[in-house]
Amino acid sequence: MSTLDSLALTRIPPEDEALRAEVRAFLAEAIAELPAHIRARSWGGYSSELSRKLAARGWIGVTLPKEYGGGGRSAFTRYVLVEEFLACGAPVGSHWIADRQSAPLILKYGTEAQKQFYIPKVCRGEAFFCIGMSEPGSGSDLASVRTRATPNDQGFVLNGQKIWTTNAHHCQYMIALVRTSGSSEDRHKGLSQVIVDLSLPGVTVRPIEDLSGDRHFCEVFFDNVQLGPDALIGAEGQGWVQVTAELAFERSGPERLFSSIVLFDQWLQYVRTPQGRTESAQRLAGQVLTQLAPLRAMSVAIQDKLVRGESPIVEAALVKELGTTLEQMIPAAIADDLFAREAEDVPVELLMTLKYVTEASPSFSLRGGTRDILRGMIARGLGLR
Ligand SMILES: Cc1cc2nc3c(=O)[nH]c(=O)nc-3n(C[C@H](O)[C@H](O)[C@H](O)COP(=O)(O)OP(=O)(O)OC[C@H]3O[C@@H](n4cnc5c(N)ncnc54)[C@H](O)[C@@H]3O)c2cc1C
Repeated sequence: MSTLDSLALTRIPPEDEALRAEVRAFLAEAIAELPAHIRARSWGGYSSELSRKLAARGWIGVTLPKEYGGGGRSAFTRYVLVEEFLACGAPVGSHWIADRQSAPLILKYGTEAQKQFYIPKVCRGEAFFCIGMSEPGSGSDLASVRTRATPNDQGFVLNGQKIWTTNAHHCQYMIALVRTSGSSEDRHKGLSQVIVDLSLPGVTVRPIEDLSGDRHFCEVFFDNVQLGPDALIGAEGQGWVQVTAELAFERSGPERLFSSIVLFDQWLQYVRTPQGRTESAQRLAGQVLTQLAPLRAMSVAIQDKLVRGESPIVEAALVKELGTTLEQMIPAAIADDLFAREAEDVPVELLMTLKYVTEASPSFSLRGGTRDILRGMIARGLGLR
């Protein structure tokens, strides 16, 4: 990390850096049995058992206030934890969304009762959340969502469908973007966010199999689901503003740079062996690291802006777009390198890891907002359109 640190725009405080060794040592033991091609799933991997162990060490909800069971520490503490989880390939998917955005959203917009009910459970690794934004026909064009929560005398009646909802089949709760008034032609007006208990009658969750055979995202159907009045999070009609702020957190983290890092690390280990070492491989290693270092520095700098209460939406889009481009370049370049060699020289585990990351990599520039959408935002932010 020393080369990367020398390029930092913003330094992570020493007390947070000091956490790294402890986290690394813990994970080295906790996930020792997991082979690299499984660890390569990282924040897409799922282990509620590991999440509970991390929670017991205070590593979930580390930025949340102590009065709600959190760690009361800074976003840099969380940044260090997340970097270490990703670098080791820890399967942290179960608590990922709750820790990154659902609990902070509840803290920002929730009622006191909502904070007291949900946040301690998140910090204990007992409540997992998913994101209900996309619908069939409403992905990039999120303002056109049609799922509707109609007010009634008991709260809201929810009808509609979400799609691509990561880990909905493992989560207890979804924060869904829904229409509470008007129609999809009204666009941003009339949208709200509601917390949906996924065990309620009328909710059906169906996993979807992806190219690699994994079942991590789902279709979720709502058929006359009765929600209480306390399901509403934040103000009625403010869903669009809330979601936009949430997306800056979703797009700027190290997870937008490190999706291929377990593969890169495995490949580097091979390149360090006498039969793996070639001049072209060393050049490729240098190319990846010289792109990774400034991107990481930008990601840390955005974190700093978020900590200071700014909303670096364009900067976050830029880091995600450049980060996912690098994440997709890594498996393609490693494949070129390995396929130019004698097949029997290449470790099987490295090839299995390459296979998984190659199959997953098209999704890197779709999830969290597609490449075209991000480029449009960047162009607008730079005043170019
Ligand atoms: C692995 C993975 C996990 C996901 N997890 C979640 C989740 O947990 N929760 C959730 O809500 N969603 C999730 N998604 C969905 C994701 O956010 C959407 O797939 C994404 O926003 C794109 O929407 P779409 O699939 O409807 O494609 P579309 O919006 O239909 O886009 C299709 C193509 O058209 C392009 N396009 C669309 N509009 C424009 C435009 N205005 N200008 C230029 N080009 C345009 C897009 O870039 C894309 O190439 C996940 C997706 C993936 C791949």
